[in-house]
Amino acid sequence: MTEKISIQPDYETKDETKAGNYFVSNYPPFSFWNEQDVPCVSSLLNSPSSGSAPLGIYYHVPFCRKRCHFCYFKVYTDKNSNDVRKYLASTIQELQSYTESNYVKGRKPKFVYFGGGTPSYLSAQQLEDLTDQMKAVLPWDDAEEVTFECEPGTLSEKKLEAIKKFGVTRLSLGVENFSDHILEINGRAHRSKEVFSAYKFAKKLGFENINIDLIAGMLDETDENWTECVEQVKELSPDCVTIYQMEVPFNTGIFKSMKEGGKLTAPVADWPTKRRWVNQAYEALEKVGYTVTSAYTAVKNPETTKFIYRDRLWSGADMIGLGVSSFGHLGGIHYQNLTNIDQYCDTIESKKTPIRRALLTNDEERFIRELILQWKLGRVNQKYFNDKFGVKISERYSSILSEWKARGDLSEANGELVLSRSALLKVDTLLHSLFLPRHRNAERYV
Ligand code: SF4
Repeated sequence: MTEKISIQPDYETKDETKAGNYFVSNYPPFSFWNEQDVPCVSSLLNSPSSGSAPLGIYYHVPFCRKRCHFCYFKVYTDKNSNDVRKYLASTIQELQSYTESNYVKGRKPKFVYFGGGTPSYLSAQQLEDLTDQMKAVLPWDDAEEVTFECEPGTLSEKKLEAIKKFGVTRLSLGVENFSDHILEINGRAHRSKEVFSAYKFAKKLGFENINIDLIAGMLDETDENWTECVEQVKELSPDCVTIYQMEVPFNTGIFKSMKEGGKLTAPVADWPTKRRWVNQAYEALEKVGYTVTSAYTAVKNPETTKFIYRDRLWSGADMIGLGVSSFGHLGGIHYQNLTNIDQYCDTIESKKTPIRRALLTNDEERFIRELILQWKLGRVNQKYFNDKFGVKISERYSSILSEWKARGDLSEANGELVLSRSALLKVDTLLHSLFLPRHRNAERYV
């Protein structure tokens, strides 16, 4: 849980990087999720599914070797093998309880996502046992994609072989930067040497889709170093490159230091610089054949390199969230699990629901959720929203869209509304104007 602080996040993202969350990851905002709606999830699970939405699984591994200074996730760096074993067993029990429900019984996941934390923190044996048990409870043979997030320093050839063997198709490497100095002062556990060896092993093993994550604007980033990072990525030539712009939420080590020093502005590059760096990377990648497919991603071959987890989730798929702090979305209900690992494991053991808060959304909120998430792709198909929700976007948002067009942020082509590159790079700041009035200026990330 984020500590409540009187400083307001910089939602408008004026030039300086102020403390607060910038990235819009869901809608309605998390501060509207509540305990009263938790029983809605049990009621839903007791009824059969309409079968219209694809099903996915998000599995949360909350362990890391070290806490990065910019990290705002709930992670544990001090757990021993018994703690890990207990946690893994609890998640299997949690999965079992879903598969016994009327809502999930007989369905199979179309996508599986291992996120964290650091999924690759687990040993090859732990991963093999975990995934064998998961598959025995809910087979993955219909899954179109299995994504696995990795911290490069945790990857040996043996572990990557195990990861490939249990069916991972999309391997995501949290590289973030190639400079050992920058990695070090930002608190990352790995160094560039480990990136190159992990990448080499992964290529050799033939993963279908390898993604590299970068962050524009880490502590001490410079123009020279960023140019070097872009060159390194081009040289490695992964299937997909994901670039985030550094934000400094309240529960990060960086914010803690800012608070101690009485500072409101984070010691990282300002927003125009971060956007310029992302743009520089995209232009360089486009020159060597990549296509920008969202505000955060460029892919080498858009025909073959998909990101099914993102595309399904952003178009209303059901997703079971497994593990501590996990987020799920079932039948239009958002939910999140307990955020303390011991409480999570004990609750599962006592056969109670580990869900701590939920939100039963209405049709209008579901429409807005999909719309804001799909804007992040840089283009919105008006027919899709008209067919699915009966809403004509150009009519409903006529004044906002006219404003965007007048500023040069938006154009129209073949029934699609298309964001300019500069608008795409600041898309998260544009989305708030689409929120319902009651959700604007809410505390979105508590
Ligand atoms: S590896 Fe990722 S989850 Fe772990 S501490 Fe760093 S940013 Fe947080």
